[in-house]
Amino acid sequence: RFITFEGGEGVGKSTQVRRLAARLGELGIETVRTREPGGTPKAEAIRSFILQGKPESWGVGAEAVLFAAARLDHVDELIAPSLAAGKWVICDRFADSTRAYQGLTGGVADGFIDALEYLALNGHAPEMTVILDMDPDLAFARVRQRAIDDGLAGTVDRFEKEDLSFHRRLRDNFLAIAIANPGRCTVISADQDEDTVTEEIWRAVLDQFPD
Ligand code: C5P
Repeated sequence: RFITFEGGEGVGKSTQVRRLAARLGELGIETVRTREPGGTPKAEAIRSFILQGKPESWGVGAEAVLFAAARLDHVDELIAPSLAAGKWVICDRFADSTRAYQGLTGGVADGFIDALEYLALNGHAPEMTVILDMDPDLAFARVRQRAIDDGLAGTVDRFEKEDLSFHRRLRDNFLAIAIANPGRCTVISADQDEDTVTEEIWRAVLDQFPD
C-alpha cells in the first residue's frame, strides 16, 4: 500500500506520518516512512540544492523539473522496491505538492505538471492521500512557536519568504486537488488536537483499506 500526506506548512504532516507508521508497525505491518522532497540520498541532495540554495535563481518550471527528478529517483530506488517487497510506504509530501506549489500556485501549466507526474511516478501512484487542512494563519503561528521551541529557523524562513496570501492560495489548491481525486484523497482538519487528527486519519485508512 502507498499512502501520501499533503498540505501546507505547519499543519503537522510529519507528526501524523510518524504516528501512522508506528500504528501500522504495532499491527505487524512492515512500513517504510519517507518524505519529499528527498527520501533517497540523491533526492535529498536535490532537496538541499533547491531549498538551501537560492530558489529564487530558478524559474518555477525548472524547480518543478528538479523536484520531479528527485521523485523519479525516490520512486525507483525506494518506493517501488518497498512496495514490491509487500511493505506499506508512507510518504510525507509527494506529487500533489508539485502540483499545488509549482503548478496551481506557482503558475506552471497543468499539462507540464501532468507530464512530469507521469514520468516521475513511473506507474506508482499513491492509493491514498491524506490532505491535512488548516487555516494558514493558525499554521503559521504553530510553525513560529515550534521554531522558537527547538531553535529551528529554516521552515520559518521559507514560510516568511511568501506572504500569507500565497499560503491561502496553496490551501485552496490542495482542496481543489482533493475534489478532483475523491477516490484517493481524504481531507482532514488539522485544526484539532493531535490525537483527534491521528484517530481521524486511522479511521480513514481503515475505510480506504477495509481488508
Ligand atoms: O514539508 P517540508 O517542510 O519538508 O517541505 C520543505 C519545503 O519545500 C516546504 O517549505 C515547501 O514550501 C517546499 N516545497 C516546495 N515545492 C514542493 C515541495 C516542497 O516548494 N513541490
